[in-house]
Amino acid sequence: MTDQTMYVILLGPPGAGKGTQAVQTAERTGLLHLSTGDMFRENLRNGTDLGNLAKTYMDKGELVPDDVTIRMLLERIGRDDAKAGCLFDGFPRTVEQAKALDVALTEQGDEIAVTVLIDVSNEEITRRLGGRVSCATCGSVFHEIFNPPNADSPCCDSIKMIQRDDDKPDAIANRLQVYADQTEPLVEYYTESGKLSTVNGEQSPDAVGVDLLAALQAVSS
Ligand code: AMP
Repeated sequence: MTDQTMYVILLGPPGAGKGTQAVQTAERTGLLHLSTGDMFRENLRNGTDLGNLAKTYMDKGELVPDDVTIRMLLERIGRDDAKAGCLFDGFPRTVEQAKALDVALTEQGDEIAVTVLIDVSNEEITRRLGGRVSCATCGSVFHEIFNPPNADSPCCDSIKMIQRDDDKPDAIANRLQVYADQTEPLVEYYTESGKLSTVNGEQSPDAVGVDLLAALQAVSS
């Protein structure tokens, strides 16, 4: 499926399952998975200025400013390993970011093949994010109700679970508001350019993955 260059965007509210689906879909298609959230977290772990700046926004559930985010992403897609296409996860999150990506791809003779919206209601998102925890040692992600940590595991036992600052209740509410205000307009943006495909994100993760792959296959022939 990926003999051709293909740029794909995964769109959806925080907690829609973009990260999980992106990892699996990248494995199945060979597309390079690019997550701006992961890039910021890696910068933070490495103690870079960019990481420290991003943290001040991430902890509150706000977006890192467009100029900083766009610069980081454009630098990344300019590298050789991105030339065969990418699966964008968490980018773009504003119309300004979407326009900058369109311009950059057009300059290199490419374009977005499809934007897949993983559609999940606000009620479901609040339920999912509220219980999300990760292991303080290895970083594995669990959910207190849907995927509880294994009490017998030598690493990921429940007393070692921590909650991301941006998964705390105030930050969740803010992230949903930020999504509605700044990211949801992208649904219209990509609908207008005929590039939007929607999958039901309230199915099982496997079923979402199947629909996602079908959406990519529909534009790859
Ligand atoms: P994520 O892991 O995709 O949920 O991203 C975590 C946080 O990183 C977000 O809440 C934002 O603060 C920041 N972030 C990630 N991607 C972007 C983006 N495209 N634009 C602005 N901020 C972003």
